[in-house]
Amino acid sequence: MPTLTSPFLSIAEARRLLVAKKISPIELLEGLEKQINTINPQIRAYLSWDSEKARLDATNADLTKPLGGIPIGIKDAILVEGAPAQSASRILERYIASYDATVIKNLRSAGAYPLGRLNMDEFAMGSSTESSAFHPTYNPWDLTRTPGGSSGGSAAAVAAGMAMATLGSDTGGSIRQPASLCGCVGLKPTYGRVSRYGLMACASSLDQIGPLTHSVEDSALLLNALTGVDPHDSTSLQLPKEDFTAEIGHDLKGIRIGIPKEYFVDGIEPDVRARVEDAIKQLISLGAQPIEISLPHTEYAVAVYYIIMTAEASSNLARFDGVRYGRRSEKSKDLLSLYEQTREEGFGAEVKRRIILGTYVLTSGYYDAYYLRAQKVRTLIRQDFEEAFKKVDLIVSATSPETAFRCGEKINDPLKMYLADIFTIAANLAGICGMSLPCGFARKDGNDLPVGLQLIGPSFAEKTLFRVGHAYEQSTIWHNQHPLIVPPINE
Ligand code: GLN
Repeated sequence: MPTLTSPFLSIAEARRLLVAKKISPIELLEGLEKQINTINPQIRAYLSWDSEKARLDATNADLTKPLGGIPIGIKDAILVEGAPAQSASRILERYIASYDATVIKNLRSAGAYPLGRLNMDEFAMGSSTESSAFHPTYNPWDLTRTPGGSSGGSAAAVAAGMAMATLGSDTGGSIRQPASLCGCVGLKPTYGRVSRYGLMACASSLDQIGPLTHSVEDSALLLNALTGVDPHDSTSLQLPKEDFTAEIGHDLKGIRIGIPKEYFVDGIEPDVRARVEDAIKQLISLGAQPIEISLPHTEYAVAVYYIIMTAEASSNLARFDGVRYGRRSEKSKDLLSLYEQTREEGFGAEVKRRIILGTYVLTSGYYDAYYLRAQKVRTLIRQDFEEAFKKVDLIVSATSPETAFRCGEKINDPLKMYLADIFTIAANLAGICGMSLPCGFARKDGNDLPVGLQLIGPSFAEKTLFRVGHAYEQSTIWHNQHPLIVPPINE
């Protein structure tokens, strides 16, 4: 009896097979575990997984629920009761979560269950998964390249057929950029859509949890389960319950797509630009109407982000002091040296850099010059989008200016690394929703590397992203291409 029909089975297909009893939840799990055992040693997307617990969850799966029997891989920053939760940091080595994040509770009540802990940049700071304190993750399309980050483990696991879907978090692009570099679908929901309770905070006014999936439809199916107001997160919003799949299958007549001139400038790899321009033509042939727009404050987005993000992160990370969570230095002599030694030993170079930067911009003498000014420019960036969305339904761009870069290429040049998120950061600053989906390949050194198309929508317009994304996806072949590293099932 086959365990999985394909390592790239979508949630929607798996659900059909499960409900028709053509496959059991245990067989589904075993198929995925076989893929993990074969491929993970090379890709290193998973930090750990608990087979026994997963088996128990699969055995008890309630197939009458919308996601009954579906295992979901989880970024190491999201708490699952009883599982390690380390945000890929030494300071949380061996820390075990004492409760489920709200998204995990929500997944469970929809019938899904968590499978495994996925690698990431330490505390979600980075764009390559190389700042993980444990080990890097490698891109399934070319093992000498990074999968992007910070949710690199979540994207690589999906791309390599080691997970049907995963959860990541996106503060400045950490779901969309790795989705783009690995060739899968990644969604950053509108700020406030999804509870952040149980997500280790990176920058609280920017963070959102979202799904990485094989298809746009799966992204909508997962969002159905993830959303909902949560009394534990005061920024989660009370919104009417929606079915995010409702507009999937609608045509694109009447959809106005904005093409921001600031996003088509020098510095984009020529192949990336060409694929995105092809994608725009394809959207037009499907009925969408292109409109040139301007987002005049785009050039300030990266600078503003790295002030606000570091300011918030430096306060959020103050709680890791050796007293309550995870690691405690054995070298300390008194309380002050306990804090100092624990933080010195526990945090990696990028995290320290951001704590120092963030503390600096919040210092009383500099607060007005940096933090306050950044907040004002953030408002201007939000207003740019508000103006644009008076004329268009969504905005189209490349997700990342380049395809997957080589391991080691940027890790010693923080500024270069920060520029990897140049097209994704503004959506977080504005609090709006964005999605990346595959739109073709660029050939580099004999390998085909995926290119990602970014769709940015106004607040609460996820349904439009799914409608447009699905129509594009189904009219192209990109979502059916997979990396060669993945061996066929039952070979
Ligand atoms: N790469 C960006 C950063 O380093 C975004 C990270 C994220 O979205 N968590 O901050």
